[in-house]
Formats: sequence, structure tokens, C-alpha cells
Amino acid sequence: DPRIQGIRTRIRVVPNFPKPGIMFQDITTLLLDPNAFKNAVDLFVERYKKENISVVAGVEARGFIFGPPIALAIGAKFVPLRKPGKLPGEVISEEYVLEYGKDCLQMHIGAVEPGERALVVDDLIATGGTLCAAMKLLERVGAEVIECACVIELPELKGRERLEGKPLFTLLESL
Ligand code: IMP
Repeated sequence: DPRIQGIRTRIRVVPNFPKPGIMFQDITTLLLDPNAFKNAVDLFVERYKKENISVVAGVEARGFIFGPPIALAIGAKFVPLRKPGKLPGEVISEEYVLEYGKDCLQMHIGAVEPGERALVVDDLIATGGTLCAAMKLLERVGAEVIECACVIELPELKGRERLEGKPLFTLLESL
């Protein structure tokens, strides 16, 4: 799709952020170009609009940028998956392992009902740990995760393999 190249050129790579050796893929520069940002959202919307998805779950924080416009366009609800201590209501939690230490995602109980068809959205997949935890939250409440969707994939980290066969759709691979 010719729109992909335009999206790719708007993503900035910041070396040594947040720590030495990391080549940080920065999507904030994509957001500065309304045409490229819209093209990114449209590519997801075109893929999911006929899939009967009732819930788009976005991962804090950059899944909150791409998730809501996709949800509105396909007529689904949006559910935020947040870091611990941010959601005010009753939550379920899923811990996951990072390179150094642990992290956790939480979801409001009652936000998603059994049998719902869910799409998980984030900006980027690296090791896949975050998306795994997100999928577990949805599956624990009886939802069916149809696919995970990210703008960027870091293929060398093999996050796709960690998803254990769950479909992953990404717009582009980091260079
Ligand atoms: P994973 O759990 O190892 O797949 O890491 C993915 C999570 O880390 C996502 O929530 C991303 O937003 C974040 N992340 C990791 N590396 C980058 C990056 O280079 N740019 C933006 N986000 C990143």
C-alpha cells in the first residue's frame, strides 16, 4: 500500500532513549502530519470494519492515541488497559516480565463482557510481553481476541512468536 511509505518516513528514531543502546521509535512525529496519521488509522479501520469487533482495547500510553479513532470508526467501544493504580474502579491485573523487573496492566471489571470480539491496539511490539498481558486480561473475562494491531514491529525481538499463534497485524517493521 503506497500509504505505508508515507507513514514510515514520519516515524523518528531517537538513539539512546530512554537508555543507552536503545533505538527509540517515536510516533509523535507521525501525529504532526494529519494526513499520515489518518492514513495509519484508515489502514486499521479498513482491515477491521467488517470483523464485528465490539471492543478495542488500547495499551497505555500510546495505544490511547491509535485505539480510540479506530474504535469510533468501526463502531466499537474503547477500553483502556492501564498501568497499576490509574483506574478508579474495581480491576483485574496481569503482571508481565520485562528485561529488568516486572510490569503490570489493569482493566476495569465490567468493561468487557464474555463473548465480546476484541482488538488489542498499541503503537509498537518489541518482545511481545505487553500484548500477551493485554490479551490475557481480555481472555480472563471471556472475550475473544481477534487480533493485535500495532503500527511498528521490531522483528529482531521475535515478539510475534511470543503471541503463541495469536494473529498480529503491523503496518511496518523498524529499519
Ligand atoms: P514489549 O512488551 O517488549 O513488546 O514492548 C512493547 C511496549 O513497549 C509497548 O507498549 C511500546 O509502546 C513500548 N516500547 C518499546 N520500545 C519502544 C519504542 O522504540 N518506541 C515506542 N514504544 C516502545
